Amino acid sequence: MTKQIIFAIALVVTLGVFAFTVYRIIGFFRFTKPAFPVKDLGKRFGITFRVAIGQTKIFRKPVIGFFHALVFWGFCVILIGSIEMIIDGLSGTERVLKVLGRLYDVIVASGDVFALVVAVCILIFLSRRLFFHIKRFEGIEMKHSTHIDANIALTMILLLMLSLLGMNTAYCGNKFISGEIAEGVYPVSSMVATFFNGTPASFHTAYEVCWWTHILLILVFANMLPYSKHFHVFMSVPNVFLSRLDPLGKLSNMDSITREVKLMLDPQAAMDAPTGDAPVERFGVKDVEDVSWKNYFDALSCTQCGRCTSVCPANITGKRLSPRKVIMDVRARMNEKGPGLVKNGKEYSDNKSLLRDIITEEELWACTTCNACAMECPININHPTLIVDMRRYLVMEEASAPGELKAVFSNIENNGAPWQFSSEDRLLWTKDLEMNVR
Ligand code: SF4
Ligand code: SF4
Repeated sequence: MTKQIIFAIALVVTLGVFAFTVYRIIGFFRFTKPAFPVKDLGKRFGITFRVAIGQTKIFRKPVIGFFHALVFWGFCVILIGSIEMIIDGLSGTERVLKVLGRLYDVIVASGDVFALVVAVCILIFLSRRLFFHIKRFEGIEMKHSTHIDANIALTMILLLMLSLLGMNTAYCGNKFISGEIAEGVYPVSSMVATFFNGTPASFHTAYEVCWWTHILLILVFANMLPYSKHFHVFMSVPNVFLSRLDPLGKLSNMDSITREVKLMLDPQAAMDAPTGDAPVERFGVKDVEDVSWKNYFDALSCTQCGRCTSVCPANITGKRLSPRKVIMDVRARMNEKGPGLVKNGKEYSDNKSLLRDIITEEELWACTTCNACAMECPININHPTLIVDMRRYLVMEEASAPGELKAVFSNIENNGAPWQFSSEDRLLWTKDLEMNVR
């Protein structure tokens, strides 16, 4: 009973802290702008199954992608065991899901094997970060604290797997010594248990130590994740489900501009159409309160893996642009300005902005909108839409654009085409041509 009470208190504290974090993040979302309607659910489930559960995009880097996919699938199986531990902890039962019979054996055996597989994969990930020079993990956005954050999270996952294996090993050892039949099948732990001698009491103590270590690590880890890059453990699957379904490269029109154009082409029809619009507060994105909820969702989900930056032609050719940085900047800026917005309302200003103070014009204009980053991102983050929206702010609110583009804009305005020739001269090139007209 004491164990149940202590566990219940730990769980309530965990849920309380987690609820506070979720409440805080939802408060930030309130200041974001609409993106697109979430419809086509069938298509969305298909993408989620393929990209998130099937981990298809992660296999673009086959070896390390395979290890990452193993970790993801391992987490999915081990999660069932964690749910069982929570039920056991609250109710005082032991291995409550054993009622599932043969299925339970399969789940437990997979979890036991995956605990070892995930531990090995995490050791590989950690050694890559600590001892190898991986270009993808470097860049101006990858600060010392970013690496520490990743290493702490990986170490915690490693400890989670080791405590799980320790728990299973002590459980098997206890059953062997006392001649009882274990609930479930433990291919790895039952083998490891044969290397240990002990009494039922010592195995029981080891089991309890590992049980508490494992469950407390889960509770602490769950509350660390939202403040870490490993928030993607929670966010990546929903982010894939909420993917932008438009083809990559299709830029969405701005409703306010579309209306203006329609008004010019057909004033009466445009006037008759229901507008229902409030005055446009801002064209494009200047600061974090101008981004859409999807941009912010992307920012919270980003794994900081750098796959986007590693394929970005601007970055590869030495420009300052890093699509990963753009996404990370949105999250960092919301952490910086969000509390002030929540406290003082949307008029709040800290005399800084995402654009210029954090993301420079040079970075934005370096983008070719090739969409390689969005294509490569394993969780379907879309960088170019955000970059284009920041450019829209520059052009439409500040008339700020590189000189070459300004010339194009004025040509379009004056000549109806990007070239510096009048449309009336368009067919001059045919003047000296001899044509046979029948
Ligand atoms: S945006 Fe996507 S590809 Fe780029 S670092 Fe984040 S998760 Fe990785
Ligand atoms: S769309 Fe822009 S940011 Fe993305 S890869 Fe191409 S150039 Fe880089």
